[in-house]
Amino acid sequence: MTRNYSNQTAAIRAGLETDEQFGAVIPPLYLSSNYTFEGLGQPRKYDYTRSGNPTRDNLATALAELEQGAAGIITSSGISAIHLALQVLNPGDHLIAPHDCYGGTYRLFTKLAERGLFEIDYVDQNDESALKSALKSNTKLIWVETPSNPLLRVYDIKNICALAKQKQALVAVDNTFLSPVHQQPLKLGADIVVHSTTKYINGHSDVVGGAVITKSKELGEELAWWANCLGITGAPFDSYLTLRGLRTLHVRQQQHEQTAKKVVAFLLGHSAVDRVYHPSLPTHPNHHIAVEQQSGFGAVLSFELGLTQPQIAAFFSHLELFSLAESLGGVESLICHPATMTHAAMDDAARLKAGIRNNLIRVSIGLEQTEELIADLRNALDKAKQWVEPQSASHSEINEVSHAI
Ligand SMILES: *Cc1c(COP(=O)(O)O)cnc(C)c1O
Repeated sequence: MTRNYSNQTAAIRAGLETDEQFGAVIPPLYLSSNYTFEGLGQPRKYDYTRSGNPTRDNLATALAELEQGAAGIITSSGISAIHLALQVLNPGDHLIAPHDCYGGTYRLFTKLAERGLFEIDYVDQNDESALKSALKSNTKLIWVETPSNPLLRVYDIKNICALAKQKQALVAVDNTFLSPVHQQPLKLGADIVVHSTTKYINGHSDVVGGAVITKSKELGEELAWWANCLGITGAPFDSYLTLRGLRTLHVRQQQHEQTAKKVVAFLLGHSAVDRVYHPSLPTHPNHHIAVEQQSGFGAVLSFELGLTQPQIAAFFSHLELFSLAESLGGVESLICHPATMTHAAMDDAARLKAGIRNNLIRVSIGLEQTEELIADLRNALDKAKQWVEPQSASHSEINEVSHAI
């Protein structure tokens, strides 16, 4: 396209009308693993799909444009995108990571650091003095993830980038929760953005994929080289589906967010709910940062129930429109219990330290009708409150035993 368009228009029009053979409006899917040479010593633009593929390139170009980066690389998963970004590190380099990062990210960082591939410190990045004292002369990369999961803490990207620049360190931001519709980290000073495109970007819960977008062309070329070398580039069909999802990202995000705000208001007013976590709330401790660096608050939220564990189980069992599943960002609403699902790998002490109690619930608000979602929550919360312990003899005996302990 010759002119600069809004992200909404750019996402819709990405790659349209590029087919020269038949004039297809939607760019075709190239599944071929390899491409002929025109003649001996005469390679074409593509030779082998691990290193380059036209369908995958359409998605990479579109995402780079939406994040305002110089280059985009599409990978097989969000985790492989994170692994790819780590290729900027050499043994002896130091990585600063968030103390509350995504579980798979934490596992990858910790296990690679244990093998000596780099040094690592986990820091609460809202604690500026902790961040400053963690910065060392060999700090090469600061990893940022905002908002965090599942408590939606928000970290100040601009501020972290300014501190990183003092040590010539790079900053990478995992932008999965907001997508470029609601946050553009490169514009705030970051060098690298990563996505699990599995979530909002594809948006239909039928692809696992990832992306790395770089501010500089040089870093993009270096990481594209590594993606081919490691063999972690994304599959063409996945790229095709993800580009199809991307075209509606803007309208989805806007609707997701509108519904989320109404659900937040409803939850705040329900007597079974003790606390709601969403950056849109003026009472959220990082609300002012969210207002500053985000153009929307996203549609993942969490809340604590003032209910017993059996009542919480009753709440889950009465829901009809929220699927009990991990992941987020799809058209369908999802609900999860972090303590036993997404964060089950943490031990009790670590979980409590992170603020993840047993009464914490996380939801990803989908695109079902707002009033129907709220009615479903209301019904399940009301039923859970009314739930009473069955008075069977065996049950009360068990209770007595457990009270005695
Ligand atoms: C899901 C997720 C990942 C991991 O992505 P996969 O596509 O599952 O490999 C990384 N970061 C965040 C914030 C996520 O939500």
